[in-house]
Amino acid sequence: MSFEEIVDEIREYIMYVFFPPYCVICGKHLHFAKWDQRLCAHCEQETPYIQGDVCEICGKPAIGGTLCEQCLRKRPVFTKACAAFVYDDVRKGIARYKYSGGKVDGDTYGILMAEYLLQFHKDWIAEMDFITPVPLHPKKQRKRGFNQSGILCEWISEICDIPYEEDVLQRTKNTKPQSKLDGKKRESNLKGVFTAQKCKDKAVLLVDDIFTTGTTANECSKELYRKGAKEVRIFCLSHTKG
Ligand SMILES: [Zn+2]
Ligand SMILES: [Zn+2]
Repeated sequence: MSFEEIVDEIREYIMYVFFPPYCVICGKHLHFAKWDQRLCAHCEQETPYIQGDVCEICGKPAIGGTLCEQCLRKRPVFTKACAAFVYDDVRKGIARYKYSGGKVDGDTYGILMAEYLLQFHKDWIAEMDFITPVPLHPKKQRKRGFNQSGILCEWISEICDIPYEEDVLQRTKNTKPQSKLDGKKRESNLKGVFTAQKCKDKAVLLVDDIFTTGTTANECSKELYRKGAKEVRIFCLSHTKG
């Protein structure tokens, strides 16, 4: 080991003493022996993936596994959606990933999403032509330094061997965060916000971090269909229950 590498190791350990690594799922600080990993022993052994009864379209946990109320009321334009986790289980981790310099957590989340797809939706892998993220407005992306969904896509693409098309969708307006709006306002806030490149006869797997009402996924899907997509499915890191 070179002198520089030893200095780097020491620096990393000092950082860990002051900012101990945490489990990206439950947020618990990791035991000393687990510092080089990103999951606590419990979450590693029993990763709390969404499984069992879900809505057949949006993938939200739903008793009986038929359509949830929301999809019954208004069918989304995308054909299917799924998510790896219930939002409440990863809420803290997602906030840290997006807002508090936890960029490296995206690697773990991306790997976990890829494993979820392999375990629960393996058929999707061969059926999709490419994977692409819900875009951020360029101004927002510059400020954050990365697109959280883009990092997830890179890992899913790599592990599941689905081609990654980074810039198929663009966000042309810097809108208010959807989380601050409800109902109809969510839809009008995103009207005409996304533009897509041509994707004639392509099956698109669109990736986002949080699925709440599905409005963002739906608006992106509308634009992809306008540009010729054959099918759009959604894959999110998390799904809110309500
Ligand atoms: Zn944990
Ligand atoms: Zn549904």
